[in-house]
Amino acid sequence: MQKTLQSICIVGGGTAGWMAACLLGSTLKGSRIEISLIESPDIDTIGVGESTVPSIIDFIRACHIDLKEFVKATSASFKLGIRFDDWLARKGNYFHPFGRIGQDINGFDFYQAWLKTQQQGQPTPWVEHAPSAVMAENERFVLRPQQAKNWVEHSFAHALHLDALQVARYLRKLALKRGVKRYEASVSKVILDPNGHVNSLEFSEGGTLAAGFFIDCTGFSSLLSQGALEVSYEDWSAYLPCDRAVTVQTENQGAPLPYTIASAKESGWMWHIPLQHRSGNGYVFSSAHCSDDTARRTLLDSVKGKLLNEPRFIPFSTGKRRKIWHNNCLALGLAAGFIEPLESTAIHLVYKTLIYFIQHFPDRDIDEHNIQAFNEKIDADYREIRDFIILHYCISDRADSNFWHDCQDIPVPDSLREKINAFKYRGQIMHRADQLFTRDSWCSIFEGMQIRPNKYHPLLDSFSAEGLAKMMTDSANNTRNIVMQMPKHGDFIQQNCAS
Ligand code: FAD
Repeated sequence: MQKTLQSICIVGGGTAGWMAACLLGSTLKGSRIEISLIESPDIDTIGVGESTVPSIIDFIRACHIDLKEFVKATSASFKLGIRFDDWLARKGNYFHPFGRIGQDINGFDFYQAWLKTQQQGQPTPWVEHAPSAVMAENERFVLRPQQAKNWVEHSFAHALHLDALQVARYLRKLALKRGVKRYEASVSKVILDPNGHVNSLEFSEGGTLAAGFFIDCTGFSSLLSQGALEVSYEDWSAYLPCDRAVTVQTENQGAPLPYTIASAKESGWMWHIPLQHRSGNGYVFSSAHCSDDTARRTLLDSVKGKLLNEPRFIPFSTGKRRKIWHNNCLALGLAAGFIEPLESTAIHLVYKTLIYFIQHFPDRDIDEHNIQAFNEKIDADYREIRDFIILHYCISDRADSNFWHDCQDIPVPDSLREKINAFKYRGQIMHRADQLFTRDSWCSIFEGMQIRPNKYHPLLDSFSAEGLAKMMTDSANNTRNIVMQMPKHGDFIQQNCAS
C-alpha cells in the first residue's frame, strides 16, 4: 500500500530554499503534498552566488519560467564561459567555454584530430573551434533558436550572471503563486522523534510546525542536518586551500561582458561578474597566506568603477556533508556543502540535488536503500566538481608567492591523478555520461594551462595532416563568420530583456 508523503517543509529562504520551493511546487502540482517554506526575518541570506553554468537554463525551463522575463526581472546577463587570467607563470589568459568544441571527424574525437595537426605544426587555435568562445571574444549573443540552422547555433551553450537577491525575490513570488506556504519565523529548536527523524520545529516567536519531510536550506549553519541530526562534514580543505572571500559591488563600465573573469592573484583568485545594473567582484583567498587587510586592498586595487557597498568578508569551509540525505531530511545548498566558486557550480549542485531527489522521491516509509542510491549519485557529482577545481591549482606552474608555491604540493586525489595521467598519455578523458564537465571542458583547462598529451590516437595516421588542417581552418572561419552576424551582447539585452 502506497503511503504518500503529506507535507514537505523547506527551512531557509535563500537561493537554495526558493529554488526547491519553485521546482517542487511545479513538479508536485497535482499531488496533495503540502509544501511550506520558513525564512527568518533576522538571519540574512548569503547574498552571493551570481555566476552559473548552463543547467540554470534547464532549471528555468523545468519551472516553466520564461527565460527573457527571468533575465529582465533579475537584471541578469548572459554567460558563455569563464576567462582565466594569469593562472600560469607566463602571464596571459585562456577561455573555458560552455558547449561543444569542434566537430568529431569520421567518428574520431575532434581533440585527437586537432592534436595531430598540432604535432605536425599546422594548428588552428583550440578556442577558435568553440562557438561560445568566439561569441565571448567578440561580445556577441543570441538565444539558441528552436531549430538550429547550422553547427554553431546547435553547439554553443550559455548560462547566466544573476543578482542573487533579485533571484530569491523572483522565485519566492513564483513559488507562492504555485501554492507554497511561506512562514516568517526563526527556528529555535529542532524536535526529533524516537527514531531520530525530524518531527517538528519550534520558533523563537512561539509556535511549532510538523512535517513528514524536511529540506535544510539554512546555509552554512545547517541547522537540521548538522545541528540536530549531527551529520558530519567531509573536509576538503587540504585539497583546496582557499577558505575566505571578500566581496564588493561596483558600477558597470560599459555594456556587461558575456563571460565571468577569474584572475589568479597572489593568494587566490578574483572574480568579476557583470550584471545589467552593476558588477559583482570578489577575492577568494587562503587565510593562511593572506591577511584580511591585504585581501581587501588587493580587491580594491583591482576593481574598476565606483564602489556600491562596503567590502564584506565571507569565511567558508570546502567540503560536503557525508550524507546529504539522512533519515527524513535533505540538506540543500550551503547546508549540504560548498566547493569554492571558481567554476560557479553551487547553484548547479542545488539543481542536481533536487533532480536526484525527485527521481528518488520518498513516501512515508523512508527507505534506506533509496537514500543510499541517492547519496551515491550526488556524492559522485560533488567529487567530480572537486577534482575539476583542484586541477586548476595543481597544474599551475606559478611559484611567485607562498600560496602558489604550496599549491604545487596539494595532495591530488587518486581519481584526479588517474585523469591527469590518462590525459597526458593520449588525451583521453575518463568521465561519466551525465557529469557536469564534459571532455571539452577538461581539454579546455589542460590546453589553457599548456598541458599537452604525448601522443594522439594512432588510427588518425590514416588521415593526412594537411587535409585535417584545412578542414579545421575552414570550420574555424565558418564559425567566425556566423558569430559575426550575431548582435552584440549588450544590444541583445537592450532589445529583448533589459531590466
Ligand atoms: P543562504 O543564502 O545563506 O540562505 C540561508 C537561509 O536560511 C536564509 O533565508 C536564512 O534566513 C535562513 N535561516 C538560517 N537560519 C535560520 C533559522 N534558524 N530559522 C529560519 N531560517 C533560517 N554559487 C554559484 O552557483 N555561483 C557563484 O558564483 C557563487 N559564488 C559564491 C561565492 C562565495 C564567496 C560563496 C560563499 C558562495 C558562492 N556561491 C556561488 C554559493 C551560493 O551563494 C549558494 O549556493 C546559494 O546562494 C545558496 O545559498 P543557500 O540558500 O544555501 O544559503
